[in-house]
Amino acid sequence: MDFSNREEVKSWFEEIDNKGWWTLIDIIYDNKPAHVEIREVWSKYAGLRVSYHGEDEAFEELVNSIEVVSQKMCEICGQSGSHSYIDGWETTLCDQHFESSDAKNKSR
Ligand SMILES: [Zn+2]
Repeated sequence: MDFSNREEVKSWFEEIDNKGWWTLIDIIYDNKPAHVEIREVWSKYAGLRVSYHGEDEAFEELVNSIEVVSQKMCEICGQSGSHSYIDGWETTLCDQHFESSDAKNKSR
């Protein structure tokens, strides 16, 4: 995937049902300094992670804040959510998406 292409990254997140984080992805790309190159954007431990090349203190702070916020934001719809286990996967879901999940094993 071409991580310099925001739309490609967003359509990938839509494919994995993480469209709820689209706003966060926009914030990352809207605030990326010109000298910073995004290497990867992915979901890990129920949070949105960004790896990039180049040094920038403000961007580093932003990326860290985004990770914290994503852990409180439903990855499906973007509503306020919390840490959830769905069939062993760590995810962040709002109450509605947690309740409506038909997974055999789910907990919070
Ligand atoms: Zn939701």
